[in-house]
Amino acid sequence: PKGAEDAEKWVKGVCRYCGTGCGVLAGVKGNKIVAVKGDPDCAVNKGRLCVKGILLPKIINTKDRVLHPLIKKNGEFVEASWDEALDLIVSKIKESVDQYGPDSIGFYGSGQTFAEETYVAQKVIRAGIGTNNIDGNPRTCMASAVAGFMTSFGEDEPSGTYADIEEADTFFIIGANPAEAHPVLFSRLIDRKNSNPDVKVIVADPRKTRTGDIADYYLEFIPGRDLALLNSMAQVIIEENLINQGFIDRHTEFMKGTDKLSFDAYKAFLQDYTPEKVEAVSGIPAQTIREVARLFAAPGRKTMSLWCMGLNQRTRGVWVNNLVHNLHLLTGKICSPGNSSFSLTGQPSACGSVRETGGLSHILPAHRLVANAKHREELAKIWGIDPARMPSKPGYHTLAMFKAAVEGKLKFLWVMCTNPGQSLPNLEYYRPGMEKTFMVVSEAYHPTRTSELADVVLPAALWMEKEGVYGNGERRTQHLAKAIDPPGEAKPDLEVLIEVAKRLGYEELVPFKTPEDVWKEYQRCQEGTAMQLASYDRLRKEHGLTWPVPGDDKPETYIRYARPWDPYVKEDAPDGIEFYGRPNGRAVIWARPQVDPQENPDAEYPFYLTTGRILEHWHTGTMTFNVPELKNVVGEMYVEIHPEDAAGLGIADGDEVDVISRRATCTLKAHLNGRGRPRKGLVYVPFHDQVKERMINRVLLDAFDAASKQPEYKVCAVRLQKHQA
Ligand code: SF4
Repeated sequence: PKGAEDAEKWVKGVCRYCGTGCGVLAGVKGNKIVAVKGDPDCAVNKGRLCVKGILLPKIINTKDRVLHPLIKKNGEFVEASWDEALDLIVSKIKESVDQYGPDSIGFYGSGQTFAEETYVAQKVIRAGIGTNNIDGNPRTCMASAVAGFMTSFGEDEPSGTYADIEEADTFFIIGANPAEAHPVLFSRLIDRKNSNPDVKVIVADPRKTRTGDIADYYLEFIPGRDLALLNSMAQVIIEENLINQGFIDRHTEFMKGTDKLSFDAYKAFLQDYTPEKVEAVSGIPAQTIREVARLFAAPGRKTMSLWCMGLNQRTRGVWVNNLVHNLHLLTGKICSPGNSSFSLTGQPSACGSVRETGGLSHILPAHRLVANAKHREELAKIWGIDPARMPSKPGYHTLAMFKAAVEGKLKFLWVMCTNPGQSLPNLEYYRPGMEKTFMVVSEAYHPTRTSELADVVLPAALWMEKEGVYGNGERRTQHLAKAIDPPGEAKPDLEVLIEVAKRLGYEELVPFKTPEDVWKEYQRCQEGTAMQLASYDRLRKEHGLTWPVPGDDKPETYIRYARPWDPYVKEDAPDGIEFYGRPNGRAVIWARPQVDPQENPDAEYPFYLTTGRILEHWHTGTMTFNVPELKNVVGEMYVEIHPEDAAGLGIADGDEVDVISRRATCTLKAHLNGRGRPRKGLVYVPFHDQVKERMINRVLLDAFDAASKQPEYKVCAVRLQKHQA
């Protein structure tokens, strides 16, 4: 890469962007990162990087880096000392707790912080302040996957790893676009397909994407009808006797709601989902449903399912996750190499820093639950506090937290390393709440659409300016070494959290001098659970390992629930497989009916709207819009419309179009023949734009899944009209 010749040393880290978690080598000269290249020793990417990864040095020395603490005075931000900013924060927390109680405080974190940072934040919030009001942006991207894994298998996170890509014969990709959102994984998938002409790819998506370009079967279904489609595939698999009866008998049970079902009752339930009936509902020809179901279940072939936000960001996100797992359980295509039911993740450490450390309002470290008294007691013992100090009521989930700010119930909110002022759905409703509450924002950049609403902005050290641990989407815990010092007065968030805790009087909760100190305590929280992570020493030496790693003399775990890979499976488990997170060791095959999205097109709002990512940008664009090479390729977001729909409305390519929902209007340029083609009746907008008129989340609905509390970003109803200047 450009600049590599200037590097005086190369420091190992992980890419700052997506949940793929590519290993990088950062080339350092003095206190500057001059180049980045893919780490050839990293199992994830084996030296590869996508365009965002290779341009990582450009996110560091940007014009908008925050170099000093900022305090808003009379509507203007002014520079302040760290002492002044921290004193103000501490006094505001104390004042809120004294006047309104601990539940008036909220912390909103991120899948981009280090595990150590989230661990300390949740400990201080729970054991110190006494509330479970800690949540984070993984709620908006994969809470449904968490609940899906929990309800199907009894344990969170996938059974397999990315290594399944090189083993699978059939890929079933639904509600994901890895060609743009997980490009390095997609390149591994293309290699696999090119290596063997018998490898087949099924892509199910209401919008034809670049991922769809390599599909042998492309299923352009009507938005929100995937529950019917997946049930129909199950119906065919059973009807044509493509099931693995032995696996079903030994390792599964059937359930509907809280009731156990017999296999026959489940079969009867599926009679509403024959391909002929589902053709009308989903828009997919019955014959195609039969063919993809046969391919999925074909004996002797190995099948890997991959999905992402298309399934998770839905009011029935948990159910639709369950239905993908069902297909693997019915066919026994799970827990062996290449047979994998795998949810992709969006952020570099959404698993490692939030799902695993207890960064959501209902969970505690190491996949424990707030509502479980035994789990609370276990942690209180490790933390050396009276269990009575551990609040037992789950705190606000994301939308509830920001709603509480709107309603004036949340008096103090600390946002760390994320941008809810741009990323929440139905933004016009939530932004005034962020302005109303006393809000602290720890950020590397300012202004963002969140920091502009803050009372205090704290300058945060960025990627490679601090040491810590990320956990990617395949249970891989990876260490990032510190390569350079942060600029100005920016500090690692961990240092700031510890300092605030001390000033609040919680000295005994934060006896940490280094990230490794935090890690050692966090490892104690993992004892007795099925989620043991490698030691810091080992992570430094070996860089990344897939958990569980139950001891420094033990290998990483490739596949869970199966011997010889998973150390937690009992010696006498039938077939060497055991779903040990479930009380009876059996995974659940769920009867889940088709339920349509919350908002569907009607005469007034006749189009579906869906949103997603593009290759060049990431999330709210705070990093990628700082990279000229990326901004020059796509400088503003747009609306993709099917050419026939556009013709009907007199809209030509490049015209400005108003995208209008019941909540707000965005004005975007029409793309009729862009990189994706939505089905007729659907429009698509990437969500990265920072300009208010193009911030599509303003238009979106904020309905959410009743179980996971994840919002339905993927489906709402809009109307279109040519913009009148
Ligand atoms: Fe970074 Fe994801 Fe690209 Fe890998 S695929 S280089 S993790 S953005």
